[in-house]
Amino acid sequence: MKALLLIDIQNGFCPGGNLPVPDGNQVVPVANTLIDSGQYDLIVASQDWHPAGHGSFASAHPGKKPFEMGTLSGKPQMMWPDHCVQGTADAELHPDLHVGDIDFIQQKGQNPSVDSYSAFRDNDQAALTGLAAYLRDKGVTELDLCGLATDYCVKFSALDAVDMLPGVNVRFIEDASRGIDPVGVKTAIDEMRTRGVTVIDSKDALA
Ligand SMILES: [Zn+2]
Repeated sequence: MKALLLIDIQNGFCPGGNLPVPDGNQVVPVANTLIDSGQYDLIVASQDWHPAGHGSFASAHPGKKPFEMGTLSGKPQMMWPDHCVQGTADAELHPDLHVGDIDFIQQKGQNPSVDSYSAFRDNDQAALTGLAAYLRDKGVTELDLCGLATDYCVKFSALDAVDMLPGVNVRFIEDASRGIDPVGVKTAIDEMRTRGVTVIDSKDALA
């Protein structure tokens, strides 16, 4: 059973959104090619889904500006612009994404006192989203993932997939992903590779 996991391909992370990843919209046609390829038995998307005033937002911390480090529940936390607030257009999946072919959407980031980069669990690793159990129940043995942003939500999702789905072959599709910081992207790809994630391009996934 082969699954595709599309990470946070949302308006908020594309140009024009509140937390745009450079060229984030360019993952959409590649993701659509993967969705339409017939290679996958199961297609899942994650969706950053914050309540207004979420603790990862700089606006929730007096004196803090976006992209500064701060703290949340006593732990270091990047201060983000307000983004992907539940029910807003910013939180919707990109309108060109073939959402009609997505089998399941895993929302994340609802708890205001902890951030959730990974689609599998909160950053403090205390609360699970349920996605690992869902994929296990479906009998997934191969998991390809891609999306936004490589150096945050994609990386943490890939590493959690390796940790939480033992025996599943996890692959990161590089050209179907974009990151926030070029240095961070390189580090993230190195880290994924070191931890057992295979790095591929969409042509490998389609072969
Ligand atoms: Zn977020």
